[in-house]
Amino acid sequence: MTEQYKAPQVIQNVFQQLLQVGSRKQPFSKESTEKVARIRDAKIVKSVCPYCAVGCGLNVYVKDGRVIDIEGNPDSPINQGTLCPKGSATFQYTINPSRLTHVLYRAPYSDHWETRSLDWAMEQIAHRVKQTREETFVERLEDGQEVNHTLGMASLGGATLDVEENYLIKKLLGGGLGIVSIENQARI
Ligand code: SF4
Repeated sequence: MTEQYKAPQVIQNVFQQLLQVGSRKQPFSKESTEKVARIRDAKIVKSVCPYCAVGCGLNVYVKDGRVIDIEGNPDSPINQGTLCPKGSATFQYTINPSRLTHVLYRAPYSDHWETRSLDWAMEQIAHRVKQTREETFVERLEDGQEVNHTLGMASLGGATLDVEENYLIKKLLGGGLGIVSIENQARI
């Protein structure tokens, strides 16, 4: 008959104490118990990473009208919640104090730059697009072929444009204004 092994008493005591540690109530500070996730109660706005043509899905967390965090969207079939280092930095893109909020304008024949507002720049662009289209729009070629186009303007989009913006650009500039040369940096 074999004898059952029995650990020495000192080891049994240590083992008993270890078992008790897990079942004892652990101490937490008031600050720890009151802490909540920073995105708790935030509204989630679905968006798309503005950096490249992969088009990873984003969850943009908004609280009190302010963006407080941006993470990968786990429901997106493209990235399934993951983001590359560039996409992970999208949050700072929205709140960066170095973000430009004005334009520099150098008038024709001027030797210096002037600071102008974004509203002023938008009005200038609208005015010049309208003027150029009116001056260069062609309804028919010399042989009578109907073209309804202008070769006086072109559009080059950037990779930060998402699919909806590119759709609107193509619709407005091509179908609406008759611009033929429409390209996007992500395709070049
Ligand atoms: S997270 Fe990275 S890979 Fe995805 S769209 Fe943004 S830049 Fe492209």
